[in-house]
Amino acid sequence: MMTHDKAEPGEIYCDYNATAPLRASARAQMLAWLGDQTGNPSSIHAAGRRAAAAVAHAREQLARLIGAAHGEIVFTSGATESNNLALHAALAGRPDAALIITAVEHPAVLEFARARTAPLVVIGVDHHGHLHADRLAAALRTAPGAVVSVMAANNETGVLNDLAGIRALTREHGALLHTDATQLVGRLPIDVTALGVDMLSLSAHKFGGPQGIGGLYIRRGLPLAVAPLQRGGNQERGWRSGTLNVAGIVGLGAAAEDAAVHLTTEITRVRAIRDEFEQRLTGTIAGAFVNGDTETRLPGVSSVTFPGLPAQAVLAAMPEVAASDGSACASGSLRPSHVLTAMGYAPDDADSVIRFSFGHASTAADAWRAAEKTLDAVRRVRGAMAGTTPVNETGPFRHAAVPLTTGRTS
Ligand code: PMP
Repeated sequence: MMTHDKAEPGEIYCDYNATAPLRASARAQMLAWLGDQTGNPSSIHAAGRRAAAAVAHAREQLARLIGAAHGEIVFTSGATESNNLALHAALAGRPDAALIITAVEHPAVLEFARARTAPLVVIGVDHHGHLHADRLAAALRTAPGAVVSVMAANNETGVLNDLAGIRALTREHGALLHTDATQLVGRLPIDVTALGVDMLSLSAHKFGGPQGIGGLYIRRGLPLAVAPLQRGGNQERGWRSGTLNVAGIVGLGAAAEDAAVHLTTEITRVRAIRDEFEQRLTGTIAGAFVNGDTETRLPGVSSVTFPGLPAQAVLAAMPEVAASDGSACASGSLRPSHVLTAMGYAPDDADSVIRFSFGHASTAADAWRAAEKTLDAVRRVRGAMAGTTPVNETGPFRHAAVPLTTGRTS
């Protein structure tokens, strides 16, 4: 039998933007489902009806979390699929329609956009990570009836977009608005109906559900023909054929309910943990700073620049701390983060960024320990660089050694 490596004792998980731990209620509901249920929700016998009821319940739970009606939700395999499905459907039958996105979208939007041959407008962002609203307005004036896709919260910096303002602009120009809200759902309140967005993508594992399951909200009344990416048995009202992942959906629903119930307290608690963590780092490491708008951002995200220090070396010096250099989706490639470069960072500066992200199961003690481990790792990397790497020479680290002073030790 295949066994899995357990987390090492002492590991500190600070990578909620890559994936969040499964919430206890999601685990319990999924195990209960897997333990004693079977049935395809499309079957009409009793077992099938039980599966269909479980799916319907989860659809309600998710709809409540985002302020939707249950008939406005399509279950997918996650936000990658939701983004592709949303943009594919929005542009189906309109091959010449312009697509307007921002430069800091997730690759699931960026790569879809790049694969199209029709007009594409990419709106840049400022140093704080905010899109240039005047450029969006100008793009909409020249391309009325466009499809606009703007993320709700950035996965690398946590910076939030002003969806209400963007909605007003797109409405004025008759454009359709899709938002990739993968990092926001379950972490900050959102009401799709009040907001008036047309489509919204989400992924369960970012808010404590299982991986490989997500959803796409499609506003009722949106004049859009069903345009699936895959054809088959017409599940999900034809939007997404294929037997439903019932266990995953049950887990998503339970996580959505748990997130909704605890949202207010989690926001306050997680923000306090994050702020204390950040203060410890930026107050101790001279020159270290937080990237992006520090006010208008997700409560759990801390994207920190350690000037002159390669993020990969710092991460390697603290194997107990699970955090990311740039975005986990892009790790493995050595390209500098497209988000940070769009914000005006030089490639070397972007290489000095570590993203820590906290969430529902993070504790203040864990975050404090993560900060201490980071401080220690920074000191050791700095020491190694000072001893081995002359300025401007390619050595074990590509960066010039920048002396950092620490408030407590120097
Ligand atoms: N959009 C954003 C903003 C994300 O952060 C992610 C996950 N990194 C995705 C889309 C894709 O989600 P998934 O990998 O679950 O399909």
